[in-house]
This record gives sequence, C-alpha cells and structure tokens, in this order.
Amino acid sequence: MVEISNHMPTAELQALDAAHHMHPFSTQSGFLKKGARVITRAEGVHLWDSEGEKILDAMAGLWCVNIGYGREELAQAAYRQMKELPYYNTFFQTTHVPVIALSNRLAELAPGDLNHVFYAGSGSEANDTNLRMVRFYWAQKGKPEKNIIISRKNAYHGSTLGAMSLGGMSGMHAQGGVVQNVHHIDQPNWWSEGGDMSPEDFGLERAQQLEKAIQELGENRVAAFIAEPIQGAGGVIVPPSTYWPEIKRICDKYEILLIADEVICGFGRTGNWFGSETVGIQPHIMTIAKGLSSGYAPIGGSIVCDEVAEVVGGDEFNHGYTYAGHPVSCAVALENLRILDEERIIATARDEIAPYLKEKFESLTGHPMVGEAKIVGHMGSIALTPNKATRAKFAAEAGTVGYLVRERCFANNLIMRHVGDRMIISPPLIFTKENVDTLIERAWKSLDEGMANAKAQGVFTAA
Ligand SMILES: *Cc1c(COP(=O)(O)O)cnc(C)c1O
Repeated sequence: MVEISNHMPTAELQALDAAHHMHPFSTQSGFLKKGARVITRAEGVHLWDSEGEKILDAMAGLWCVNIGYGREELAQAAYRQMKELPYYNTFFQTTHVPVIALSNRLAELAPGDLNHVFYAGSGSEANDTNLRMVRFYWAQKGKPEKNIIISRKNAYHGSTLGAMSLGGMSGMHAQGGVVQNVHHIDQPNWWSEGGDMSPEDFGLERAQQLEKAIQELGENRVAAFIAEPIQGAGGVIVPPSTYWPEIKRICDKYEILLIADEVICGFGRTGNWFGSETVGIQPHIMTIAKGLSSGYAPIGGSIVCDEVAEVVGGDEFNHGYTYAGHPVSCAVALENLRILDEERIIATARDEIAPYLKEKFESLTGHPMVGEAKIVGHMGSIALTPNKATRAKFAAEAGTVGYLVRERCFANNLIMRHVGDRMIISPPLIFTKENVDTLIERAWKSLDEGMANAKAQGVFTAA
C-alpha cells in the first residue's frame, strides 16, 4: 500500500485520483488528461492547493461553508461528541441529546408553525423524504390519488432518484429515468426566456402556470408544489418581483402543500435565516442541508409544519436513514447555528456587506460580455451574451463560453462557477469588503481573458 499524503508531488496525486476516484458531475476520462486540482487546506474564505496557490472561494465550497473555513469550535464540538456518543440511531424508541437540542433550535428559528424535523444525511435524501411524506400525508387523509408533485424545469433538488425526478434538469432525467407523477412548469428566468415581455408580466405568467397546471391535472390529484425560493444550481435565477406573491396567492387558494427547498437559501444566504422569509412565503415543509452545518459535517432534513407532522405521525411512516440525526453532525450543526447567531454573521452580511457586494457585482454589467447581473444577499449571477441589447445566446453549445470564463477564474485563483453561460457566486457570509474587491477584480480579468479566448476560438457569435 502506498502512503498518500499532502507531501506527494501534485502530478502523482492527480494520477492516483484519476485512477481510483470517480468524480460526481464530471467526465471521468477527462481527469486522465488534465488532473483535478488538489485542495489541501482552507482558512476563512481561502483555499490552498498542493502547489501552494491561495484561492478565493466565492462559492463557499458548494454553497455551504456559510461561516467560513477553519472554525476550531466546530472541530471541538465534533471531537467531544465522537468521544461521548459517536453514533446512535433514533429508529426504535431511542433518542439522544444533540438531536433533541438541534430540533428545538430549528423549531425556534424556522418561521411560523414549522416545528418538527425529520433528518437525513443530505439535501437529496431530505427531498426523497419529502416526496414520500407528502404522498403519505394525503393517503392518510383518505386521498391517495392526490400524489402529483409540481416542480419547475431547471430546478435542482438533488441527485438521488426521487430528488432528481423532483428537479427539472433534463440532462439528469435523460440518464436512468425518473419516478412517476412529477409535473414540471417553466422557470421564472426572464433573461433567457422572457422574450418581449416586461419582467413583471413575465413573472406573473410563469407563476400562473402553476394555477393552470393545478386546474389541468385536477386539484384532487396535486399533492404539492416544490421550489427553491431562488434557484441555485440552475444558475442563480432571481425571479421577477411579481413571481412569489402570485405563487403564494395560488398556493393559498388551492388545497396543496408548499415545499420550499431551502438547501441553498437557508441559514443566511439571502439575508434572513430562510429564503422563504426573503420572498414572503410560509411553506408547509422546508428542505435544509448545506449551510445547516456550514458543510463541516453531512446533515440534511425536512422541517415540517404542525398539521403535516400530526397527520403523518398518526401511523407508522416506513422511512428512515441510518445516519438520520447523526449525533456528530447534530452537534456540529448546533455549534454552527450558535456562531451564526452570536456573532451576528447573518445580520452583518445582510446590512454591512450585501449592499456593497450588490453595487460591485452589478457593476460587472459594464463589461462588454455581461448582460444582466442579479444578486440577493450572498447569491448572485451574471448572464454572458454576445449582444446585450437583444439578450442573444451564443451560437456555440450552451456553456461553451461560460466554461472558458470559469477556466480563467480558476487560473486567476477565484472560485466562480458557470451554469451554462451564467457565472454564479455564493460566497461565505463572512466575506469582507476587501474580499468583494478581490472578487470583482479577478472576475473582470477572467471575463476579459475568457472573452478573448472565445473570440480566438470563433465562438463569440450570436445564435
Ligand atoms: C445541493 C442541493 C440539494 C441536494 O443536496 P445534497 O446535500 O447535495 O444531496 C437539494 N436542493 C438544493 C436546492 C440544492 O442546492
């Protein structure tokens, strides 16, 4: 057995990685040609790689490291919990203190009567729970035929079969098929799909698709509507201001459940504890993960309102994960929530940094290739275009130019991702104004270089 450590040459680590580690959402064969960047440590808002490069992480890992890297308190919480009780399940009339404490804390933080938590190991698992839970709920109420879930195209709800089916990513649906009775309506993406409509009219039209779908499918068939308050992995799509009030009106009018997928929006990302508060909705179920533990330990869950919890609790719900309410993850999450609260991280991010970040981020529309810039709290995106006036798409396959810009960001030691031809950010909530300045400086440079490369490759042309 080879001993593999941080001190090995990068190329050797990359070759071993490519040989034995299958990467998610990647073309594996590509790693044989071009190795993965080896990340060796992190502190605050920065990562370091095996070549000693210091990288600004404007994605907070995968939208999750809300309090930033390197917090000793979280390591201590995990260590203490591992020594005291590293694992126990909560299946058969047992419980433990970390899960009791975290559930009580989440019930305090979550809006309205969202007072009950069903745990999972991840956001995907939590959405699988939701899929089964809302169907079980209606079956318990004597309406088993109320089992269709309405979602949105280009939504992301996770990668397991159930969560992926709820999601609206066609590339995922095409690989391996989907579960039945999930219906997708269009997303409120004005930039790409709004045509000649004003953003306000477009937002209404997209929201009213929910009402049309309920009427066409039959109110007696529709169990729930699921949506991210602001779509994240779909490209940080900030809906027009008219969208959520209209969705709320429709959800109030018909007898369906509303599931807010807060996996990204939760825990401060949009300026409040939950994105539902930011967009003004009161869901029946919220999906949580990512920022719940700031990514320090895997944990997800569903926060469920009183009525749904009561109905579901009336009979045995044949569902549960071995690691649901894992004591170490619960202890880490609790410590994370304590820090977010006591250090006023969410309030500071919202009141002191977000306005500055918004101003600077929106200034990127001064770049010749940037059409719109949209940002709420600490999640934002810019649309790349060869023609701002017409909001034209590139002639090349979607994502070709986005990838060229991302490559330059990576080379310039900035983690900023692309989704198709949108560039997205989701920085840790501890970002300072100085971090914002560095972000904008490197983003601008990368846009320049990406545009030059696109021109050199002949892909900077309108469709
Ligand atoms: C990441 C994500 C998920 C899936 O969470 P995992 O922990 O990766 O399973 C679900 N919903 C949304 C909105 C997400 O961004």
